[in-house]
Amino acid sequence: MDFQVLLYYLFVRLDSPESIAEEQRQWCGELGLKGRIIVAEEGINGTVSGSREAAQEYIARMARHPQFANTEFKVDDHDGHAFKRLSVKVRPEIVTLGESVDVPANTGTHLKPKEFREKLDDPNALVLDIRNDYEYEMGRFAGAIRPPVKTFKEFPEWLRAELKDVKGRPILTYCTGGIRCEKLTAFLSQEGFEDVYQLHGGIVTYAKDPDVKGEKFEGDCFMFDERLSVPVGPVVSLCEKCQAPSARYANCANVDCNRLYFLCAECEAAKGAACSQSCEAAERTRARNARLDPALRGEGKRLRRRRHRAKVRARATEAQQTPTI
Ligand SMILES: [Zn+2]
Ligand SMILES: [Zn+2]
Repeated sequence: MDFQVLLYYLFVRLDSPESIAEEQRQWCGELGLKGRIIVAEEGINGTVSGSREAAQEYIARMARHPQFANTEFKVDDHDGHAFKRLSVKVRPEIVTLGESVDVPANTGTHLKPKEFREKLDDPNALVLDIRNDYEYEMGRFAGAIRPPVKTFKEFPEWLRAELKDVKGRPILTYCTGGIRCEKLTAFLSQEGFEDVYQLHGGIVTYAKDPDVKGEKFEGDCFMFDERLSVPVGPVVSLCEKCQAPSARYANCANVDCNRLYFLCAECEAAKGAACSQSCEAAERTRARNARLDPALRGEGKRLRRRRHRAKVRARATEAQQTPTI
């Protein structure tokens, strides 16, 4: 199938996020796009999928829009929708940091993939992975530090406490598509850090760049859609059951555990998705991790109902995680 997945964001002052959201709903409805869009007074952040024609028409409409003309799109071909439904929401922030940050005025220096790769060699540089722990586990730049925080909102406190003595050193940040870097580097600049850089376009752009070809990145890049990951460098994560290289995440089959861990398709097929013996014996289990395995579609009604419950849970978890890209 000839589909495309779009990732984009733009920090731009929007006086009426509600009416923008309404317009977005209308466009996506007309074009048959699915995905998640967040609108706030600070801008727009979205990831949607649709037919190639629909996706291209959406990009064209955004380019003609008085406020969104500068939006950059990351476009990936895909064999169908990457989302089940459409959600357009108005929120206080497009990426939740919980700090008042003027992004357009303060964001750090953007580095193209090639420039970023060169900067990685600076022995003085601090490379910060500002994503979630489960994203970092799947793949990251060699030598990157992932601060021990649970959510993006906890970064300001950690950075204030831990980086106050390194203000002279260059700080490099990276994330999936760039949006989290825009906000966090702007925060760092506001806090008095002067040498702050970010990977322009994020890991997804770095992976596709013809010069760098994903160099110095180890593993896959976690994605917040049904693809779950895209390959960048050699796989570094291991299936917990057989220790073979695997970038495939699964939720434990025990609904009350639900732990996210690396589990290869072979092991899941042979032994199920319970993460331990006690989880295997648990009362409330689901048969399969269908969310992770489109190949399992078309099974019985009972399984489908179970899978639906698993998906509802997965969606609830996703919603807590917030970052779209
Ligand atoms: Zn395995
Ligand atoms: Zn478990």
